[in-house]
Amino acid sequence: MLRLRRQGERIGFVPTMGALHEGHVALIRRARSENRRVVVSIFVNPTQFGPNEDYERYPRPIAEDRDILRREKVDYLFMPAPGAMYPEGFRTEIGFKPEADGRHLFSVLCGKSRPGHFKGVVTVVCKLLAIVLPHRAYFGAKDYQQSVLLRRMIRDLDLPVDFCLCPIVRDKDGLAISSRNRYLKSTERARALAIFQELKNAREKILAGEKDLGKVRREALKALRGPVDQIDYFEAVDGEDLRPLSRPRNGMVLLTACYVGGTRLIDNVIIKNLKE
Ligand code: AMP
Repeated sequence: MLRLRRQGERIGFVPTMGALHEGHVALIRRARSENRRVVVSIFVNPTQFGPNEDYERYPRPIAEDRDILRREKVDYLFMPAPGAMYPEGFRTEIGFKPEADGRHLFSVLCGKSRPGHFKGVVTVVCKLLAIVLPHRAYFGAKDYQQSVLLRRMIRDLDLPVDFCLCPIVRDKDGLAISSRNRYLKSTERARALAIFQELKNAREKILAGEKDLGKVRREALKALRGPVDQIDYFEAVDGEDLRPLSRPRNGMVLLTACYVGGTRLIDNVIIKNLKE
C-alpha cells in the first residue's frame, strides 16, 4: 500500500466484517468513484463482541463475498486472521475521555448494553487505517454512534485520512440492510419493519412542528412495544456529540436499537431542513 501511495494513487478503503450486502456495495461504489484504487477489509473483529454476543455465529460467506468484490472491481481484499491483528503481547487500546458534561460516548446508546464494543471498534479501525494507509475511508450512517466515534478518533489523532460518511441503504420495504438481517425469520422480518416506520413517524411529527421530544419518544416507544420484542433505546440526540435533546434542532438524529426474536437491530434517521 505504501508503494501505491508513493506512486501517487488515491486509495479508498472500506472496512467491513463481511457478509457483504447492498449497504457495503454502496460504500464500495462511492470509493470506486472517488479513488484510483479500492481496498476492502473483511475482519470479524473479536474484541468488539461481548461474551454472549454472536461472534462465533456471525455469518462468514467468504466465497459469495469474493464474488461481490470481483464484480465491483475492488483492487485489494485484506482479510487478516485474528492472530495477525492481535498477536501475543498485543496490549494497546484506544480510549475516549468523557465529554465536558461528563457523558462518555463509549457508554451511551449502544455502548450501554454493549460494554467494550466501541473500544474494540475504534482500536481495530485505527489499526486497519495504519495498515492500509488509505487517503479516504468510507463508513455507513447505519452505525451512527460508531461513525461519530471514528470521526473523532481520526480528527483527535490527526490520522492522515478523509472520513467519508455514506447514507443508510434500505431494502424496498424500508428495513435498513444489515448482515444480521439473515438471522430474521420471515415473520420477524415483517415485525422489524416497525423500526423504520416509527423513526419516520417521529421524524414527521418533528418536521410538522412538534417541539416536545419527550412526547415523540414516548409515543414511539409505545408504538414499537407491540411489534418488537424488546426496546434497548429510542433517543433523540445531537448529531455531533450524541447529547440527548429535549427540543428539536437541525442535524439531530433519532436512533433506536430493538430486539426482534433474538436479533438486535439498529436504525436511525437524521433530521435536516428543520425550521427552528
Ligand atoms: P459491518 O460489516 O456491519 O461492520 O459494516 C461495515 C460498514 O458498512 C460500516 O461502516 C457500516 O456502517 C456500513 N453499513 C452496514 N450496513 C449499511 C447500510 N445498510 N447502509 C449503509 N452502510 C452500511
